[in-house]
Amino acid sequence: MSRLLLGVLALQGDFAEHLQAFADIGIEAVPVKRPGEVLACDGLVIPGGESTTIGKLCERFGVGDAILELHRRGVPIWGTCAGLILLAKEIVASDQWRLGILDAEVARNAFGRQVDSFEADLPMDGIPGPPIRAVFIRAPYVTRVWGDTTILAALQDRIVAVREGNLLGTAFHPELTDDRRVQEYFVGMVEAARQAREQGQ
Ligand code: GLN
Repeated sequence: MSRLLLGVLALQGDFAEHLQAFADIGIEAVPVKRPGEVLACDGLVIPGGESTTIGKLCERFGVGDAILELHRRGVPIWGTCAGLILLAKEIVASDQWRLGILDAEVARNAFGRQVDSFEADLPMDGIPGPPIRAVFIRAPYVTRVWGDTTILAALQDRIVAVREGNLLGTAFHPELTDDRRVQEYFVGMVEAARQAREQGQ
């Protein structure tokens, strides 16, 4: 079996930190910018940054269509922060471009202007051991889920991690701490999906 190839969308935002985080656990991850590069991936991360900017670039360069094709093939996609916003079907009070594939509604910058960034200890379903130290930066949260979307983590009534099949969304930034358990969780999704695709062929 060939090695897994993980892509990190490198149009804007903190993709370098994601690349380093996978390198830390010995997983090869490459920056991807072009549709062809996206389509070669066994798993894709959409990083934090500015969701309107990443969205515009996705639309302009045909990368959005490539990501949608990847999703149709059953390839796992993990969106963090701005990446989560781009996955969601609904964005509160915004008509910005989005992939619109995750059965969820998100609110941008939802923790309030006063709370620009903060950290919290967060228990997360599927991640054994102690809570995760979660870093939030002008973060969104999920206001509503439906369909097959399940809630993996919440801060009081604010949903901050979700999963729907091969889609993973986190409102916080696991790449900005030393804990690699969320990366390992996603790599598990990627391995399982590749096995399923190979068996289906
Ligand atoms: N506030 C940003 C947005 O709405 C997301 C912030 C982040 O990705 N750290 O796009």
